[in-house]
Amino acid sequence: MAGRAKAEKATRKAGKAGRSARAPLTNVERAAEARAAKSVPARPSGSAALRARAAAVHERFLAAQPAPRCELEHRGAWDLLVATILSAQSTDKMVNRVLPQVMERFPTPAAMGAAPQEDVEAVVKSTGFFRNKAKAIREAGRMVAEQFGGEVPRTMEEITRLPGVARKTANVVLGTAYGLTTGITVDTHALRVSRRLGLTTEEDPEKVEQDLMRLFPPEAWIDTGHRMVLHGRYVCTARAPRCAACPLNEQCPSAEAEPEGSWQERAAREKRLVESHGEAE
Ligand code: SF4
Repeated sequence: MAGRAKAEKATRKAGKAGRSARAPLTNVERAAEARAAKSVPARPSGSAALRARAAAVHERFLAAQPAPRCELEHRGAWDLLVATILSAQSTDKMVNRVLPQVMERFPTPAAMGAAPQEDVEAVVKSTGFFRNKAKAIREAGRMVAEQFGGEVPRTMEEITRLPGVARKTANVVLGTAYGLTTGITVDTHALRVSRRLGLTTEEDPEKVEQDLMRLFPPEAWIDTGHRMVLHGRYVCTARAPRCAACPLNEQCPSAEAEPEGSWQERAAREKRLVESHGEAE
């Protein structure tokens, strides 16, 4: 015991000596340290504080969006899978315009799987990145028809074997079409909102999802994903977030304006905004 204390004392002494002997930082090193410090967002101040913030966010989200919905119009899991693949780098409005034509031309996974690449490209062209998207939905159609009996699979492990389907798309389809709780959808809106709210410091969507899954109750995962997406689309927008009108303002370390009125009034306003797809003011 005495030997160990002696060894620890020696280590501390050596550490002190090491630090005091350290050469002063050069200007280049100082600039690099400042850059690194700037790029790391402020960490939430502890797990209890973080949980309290998430609980408050959850309460206010419930008031602002009691029954959130996926804005991609669909009749079933296959439609939604195709719509979600097409929505990458596009808007839900654009996909909602294109999807009925896609389903009319290629109504089943088997029909899509057997369609020529150029035919599918021509129909999905206006959603952007159309070559890759056409390739992904054709191959997904072929796999669903041949390996899953024509029905989109219902497990995370199986559905993520389809081309163009990572966890985000899988969570959208499994949660929205089948009501299966597998995680929280993290798209570009949800990622931005989570970071601004200080609920995560991660940048990778799957790591952000893991952080959110630790903070929100499993029974709320599907709706929390929808709420984050819709809040980011209509309130916490990328360029000009409506912080003064945001019901989460008091909970948000990134708020850029003082809140207007009570949070309940702001929640009611967000409800109108979301229900009108951004038309109400
Ligand atoms: S207060 Fe501003 S930054 Fe924070 S969640 Fe609301 S809109 Fe986004």
